[in-house]
Amino acid sequence: MWIDTHTHLDDPQFDSRRDAIVSRAMQAGVDAMLAVGTTAGSSQTCVELARRFPAVYAAVGIQPNYTEQAEPDDWECIVRLAVEDRVVAVGETGLDRHWDYSSWTVQQDYFDRHIRLAQRHDLPLIIHMRDCEAETVAMLESASGRHGLRGVMHSFTGSAATARHCIELGLHLSFAGMLTYKKSEALRAIACQIPSERLLLETDCPYLSPHPHRGRRPNEPAWIVHTASCLAEVRGVELGTLADQTSENARRLFRI
Ligand SMILES: [Zn+2]
Repeated sequence: MWIDTHTHLDDPQFDSRRDAIVSRAMQAGVDAMLAVGTTAGSSQTCVELARRFPAVYAAVGIQPNYTEQAEPDDWECIVRLAVEDRVVAVGETGLDRHWDYSSWTVQQDYFDRHIRLAQRHDLPLIIHMRDCEAETVAMLESASGRHGLRGVMHSFTGSAATARHCIELGLHLSFAGMLTYKKSEALRAIACQIPSERLLLETDCPYLSPHPHRGRRPNEPAWIVHTASCLAEVRGVELGTLADQTSENARRLFRI
């Protein structure tokens, strides 16, 4: 019924309860989840989780905030993992100007490598963008001129103009728990405007618990239902219709 397109199921917060969390997700109607890597080690763990749980698929990549500490071997590891069984996307990649963990040139270099890797294997990208919308869109735009580009702007919180630009580039937009927060009116207005065939849902767990669990950790895939209900309400569609549409979108994009 639902597909959680962005989880960090490898997070140590889940170590003592991962099996329970995956079963709770399935009971809540989450048929599939993507375990998204943030470092070489985390990507390796995500691939292992995808082999262990039939409902879990993996994405491999180095998240922009971890690029500064990445060793050359780490990138080689991502390149090797990208062709493994049950790996359905490249990411999490992108750019981040909010935190100052990685220098800008290193972030851009890694984003470019991830884009090229995804294009080489015709895999979708999972893109993180924080406080640098123009720069992110510019890199994606030049990449799309070079080769076909598929992917998702994960946990989208950008402007209406950026949303439109990403849609024009052929990308999907995914919404997480932030959509349910009281102050997110502008984001909800944007979520109303996205063509239904480009919409995805995610929890980004263990972070960003949706209302009414806001502030509680860890967030978990079963709670995707709260974000979904909010999205269905603002778009004025039945929950079942939204479930069918977003699951179909996820299956088509990630080929699962
Ligand atoms: Zn993430």
